[in-house]
Amino acid sequence: MTDRYCVFGNPINHSKSPLIHAEFAHQTQQACEYTAEETPLDGFVGAWRAFVDAGGRGANVTVPFKGDAFALCDTLSHRARRAGAVNTLILGGNGRTYGDNTDGIGLVRDLTYHRVALAGKRLLVVGAGGAVRGILEPLLAEQPSEIVVVNRTADKAEQLVSDFADLGRISGGGFDALNGTFDVVINGTSASLTGELPPLPDTIFAPHAWAYDMMYGAEPTVFLQWAGPRGAKLLDGLGMLVEQAAESFFLWRNVRPETAPVREILRQSLNYQ
Ligand code: NDP
Repeated sequence: MTDRYCVFGNPINHSKSPLIHAEFAHQTQQACEYTAEETPLDGFVGAWRAFVDAGGRGANVTVPFKGDAFALCDTLSHRARRAGAVNTLILGGNGRTYGDNTDGIGLVRDLTYHRVALAGKRLLVVGAGGAVRGILEPLLAEQPSEIVVVNRTADKAEQLVSDFADLGRISGGGFDALNGTFDVVINGTSASLTGELPPLPDTIFAPHAWAYDMMYGAEPTVFLQWAGPRGAKLLDGLGMLVEQAAESFFLWRNVRPETAPVREILRQSLNYQ
């Protein structure tokens, strides 16, 4: 019998998750199918319940429902509680819903895949939305010397810093809080969606620094186009997408798929769009 999974989001028609999970299922010979479910903005809870009633076993959750998913869960993982957001739902045997967040581990696995050193390095995270909340603890676990978080709305960055202060080595605020250079600069804003660039100084990159945009597309994002001529090595968020999906797949199926071939397939699918 085929087990059913899906991703809830709005909009969701361009989601690459069904392609990724079809590849994982094929590669690991798991009997499961995965669909994209366009979800009404006020209809997330009903959509999950209906999916479960129709035999659904688990789901991914994307913009703008990660907070709704967090509120709906009966039980939460530590990392979901820290993130205040859920991107993975798992139906328990007792009909209860368990929520997890795989975004942060997805980012760290992607950085590891590309051999981006984090231990002892100075990291800048730009943005203070739901995605950044999910990545801070996994990044801090890699023992950077410091993480600075800056955001257009300074209060939100300050709140994040205060929420993670118990882990140490984190500071931030508005863009005027920036000083010095960074070994890794992660754009966790949605600015690239509208072709905008966060107001970062030209001198932000240390020698051999990496610029990472959590967004991805057929073309390099505005942030990566800006960072390249300033000497940074460039990565987009496609690998993070595949790695967070692999972690969700593992939570559902207890089987870890290989991500390298799926990265390749996805990159090709973007180029041929
Ligand atoms: P949110 O809407 O929660 O947060 C958006 C953030 O972007 C806020 O900090 C906001 O600042 C900032 N921002 C938006 N526009 C601008 C701008 N023009 N200039 C400066 N800052 C801006 O979004 P998420 O946190 O959920 O997602 C952020 C990004 O991460 C998205 O691009 C998303 O696609 C990507 N992502 C990628 C994943 C992957 O697997 N590759 C997984 C999850 C997310 P302010 O607070 O001032 O409004």
